[in-house]
Order: sequence, then C-alpha cells, then structure tokens
Amino acid sequence: MRSVVLVFVVVLGLAITIVQAQVPTPEPLQTPSTSTQVPSETTTEGTTTTGLYPDELKLAEECDEELCKLPNCRCSSTDIPGGLLPRDTPQFVTITFDDAVNVINTVTYRNLLNGRKNSNGCPVGATFYVSHEYTNYRLVNELYNQGYEIALHSISHRTPQDYWATATYNDIKQEIADQRVQISHFANIPFESVKGVRLPFLQLSGNVSFQVMADYGLEYDCSWPTSSYTDPGLWPYSLDYASVQDCMIPPCPTASIPKTWVLPMVSWIDLGGFPCAMADSCHFTPDLEDEEGWYKFIVSNFERHYLGNRAPFGFYIHEWYLSSNPAVQAAFVRFMDLVSNLSDAFMVNSSEVLDWVKNPIPVNEYKAKSCRTWSSTSCAFQPDCGPLVGPNGMSYWMGACNVCPTVYPWTGNPFGQ
Ligand SMILES: [Zn+2]
Repeated sequence: MRSVVLVFVVVLGLAITIVQAQVPTPEPLQTPSTSTQVPSETTTEGTTTTGLYPDELKLAEECDEELCKLPNCRCSSTDIPGGLLPRDTPQFVTITFDDAVNVINTVTYRNLLNGRKNSNGCPVGATFYVSHEYTNYRLVNELYNQGYEIALHSISHRTPQDYWATATYNDIKQEIADQRVQISHFANIPFESVKGVRLPFLQLSGNVSFQVMADYGLEYDCSWPTSSYTDPGLWPYSLDYASVQDCMIPPCPTASIPKTWVLPMVSWIDLGGFPCAMADSCHFTPDLEDEEGWYKFIVSNFERHYLGNRAPFGFYIHEWYLSSNPAVQAAFVRFMDLVSNLSDAFMVNSSEVLDWVKNPIPVNEYKAKSCRTWSSTSCAFQPDCGPLVGPNGMSYWMGACNVCPTVYPWTGNPFGQ
C-alpha cells in the first residue's frame, strides 16, 4: 500500500514539475534548537538535573484540590470543571485523524468537514496528528487555513513500538520538539498554533515526552487511553500532581510536570464489552457494511458521555478506515449531522476543549461566544520538492510552502539542510 502511494506521489510530483509556477519568496530558516544539548531544569528538591533521566524525577504527590486550581492546574478526576451541572456543560466532540497528510486522504477531509457547522453557527473543528514521512505540507497549510488544528505525531513514526516506550529525552526532542519547528516552517503555519502531541501507537515514554513538552512549550498530550474512567469519563487535567488514570500502555508519567495537560482518550466500549482507544481499533464491531449498525454503535458510545458527565467525546480514527469502509463513513456523517443538530454539543479542535477546561463557562454563555479565529497564511504554488534522498537511500517528493530542502528532512535534520 505504501509503495502504491509512493508511486502515486512520485508521478504527481513529476507531473507538477512540468508546470512552471511561481516559487514563493524564500524565507529564512528559523534556527531550530537541533543541537543535542538538553536544557537543565530544577527538580522539586532543588537539585539540577540534565533532564536526560527524567524517570529519576521525584514522584508526583497526590493532588490537593486546594492547591491545584484552574486555570493553571486541575486534578485528574471525573468532576465537571467549574462545578457545572451536566445540563449546563457543553458536550465537546473531538474528531481527530492521525498520520501523514497526502493528496488522497485530504479529499476525504474536505468532503467530510469543509462547510460543516455546529448548532452555534461556528465551523466544526478537527485535529490532525501529523507524522512527517510522506506528508504534503501544502495540504497541511490548507487544513490549517480551513480552521482545523495541526498537532504532532512525530517525524519518523518509526517501528518497533518499543522504541517509543524506551525513548530518551533526546529521541523525543528530535521527534516532537523539532517536528513543531519543521511543520511550522514547511507548512508555513504559526509556530504557536501547534500545541498538541499524540505519540505513535499511543505508546507513552513515561515522564520523557511530558518533560520535552514542558521544556519546549507544548501544551497537551492526547495519547493516553483510559478504560477505568469511561462512565463517568475522565476530564482533561494537568500533570502538576499524580494522576489517577489507569496506565494501559506503560510506562506512564509519574513525576510532577507542571504546564503539561493530559487529554485522556476515554475508550469506547465495543459490542463485546471491551474498551478501544480509537474507533478503528475496536474488535467486536458491527459488520463493516452495516451502516445502521455502525450509526447505533457510535451513538451508544456518544450517549455514555452526553447523558453522563459530558466528558469530551473523542472520535479518533484513521482516514483509511473510513475510505475503505463506505458504510462506516456514512454512519460517521450521520453522527456528525446528529451533533450539528444538538444545541449543546460541539465538534471542536482539541485545543478549544483545553481552553474551555481552563476557563469553564455554562453552555448558554459558550453558545453566545464568537467562533474561533486564526490568522490565515499563504502557500504559493510551487512544484513538489524532489527527488530528495531520505533515510536508507530512499527517494521522496514533498510538497512545501517554503524553499525546498536539499535532502529529505528527518530526525536530527528537520529542515533537510
Ligand atoms: Zn500513527
């Protein structure tokens, strides 16, 4: 499948090079902190560590609600932020798509999302956890300019999964912190607009990824599934204090890492009663050709939230699952139609959920607020960059909104210089 996609991308790239087009004015490269130097930080004990071994950090303390208050701190719990009643709480729905953004899956994204509105008249949100390999950054620019959120899913997305479990601080810095500079450069989107992280395979790396996030100003992680807190669901929380969340894919963080937030992936429950973190990872599902069955399956999972404590409802999926299962896609569209017609449910970007959690307001006030805004950015048309020599000598083509790199960008060389 990957080679078919690659051939298609290469052919497209060749076709595009024939077209003489205006090349955007080269912009100076932002200097990324690509050095392997690790910032120092101070532990709660006042000693300085290199940050290389964050798992040696002191264990976080049990959360104290008197000390941990919004907007900067929240204990992990199923309590609704702001002490609101469920009926006064907006039901957020977070639709997310993972992996490379390319000419094939972007067609699905346009068809499903563009022009769709919530009941408050605001355009729906969605979050894209983008991995670098095979990503076309012109299309990332397009998604950003449609108002969707661009977030990080690593540069290499490498296997095996265990790589991520045992990743060092520097590994994650090169995969995630450097990816933020990389994606804002090649897609020409604001650096500050990139705030979220989902690790490949939902494989956490203990404290490491959160340490990197805190040091490089990334705000939230959405890689941590819970099956113990599905009914009522776990609301987002900060990592200032110890988390009560179950650790389904260890190692999970154990230290106090202020300024980082967890958007828990509250599992769906499949037809066999088993939890699944992503909609396309459920095992006992309705028949893949049974649109009505899938619609009911989605709605029954949604209702656990909507009729419960209104913890944000995640619809986490990969595009290929929808495009290869038209009945599932049709059921998903019906579900979005349902949400669009609810006066107290909203499909939003993941960072909008976090903004609300930090400053919770009743649904009536929320509905009266103006819609999210973003500063639009340009992407002048230019031929795809390539062929670019990448890892293992492979050749790549890459759409970009900035000057072409000289080699295929990769970990340790995020700009491909
Ligand atoms: Zn992935």
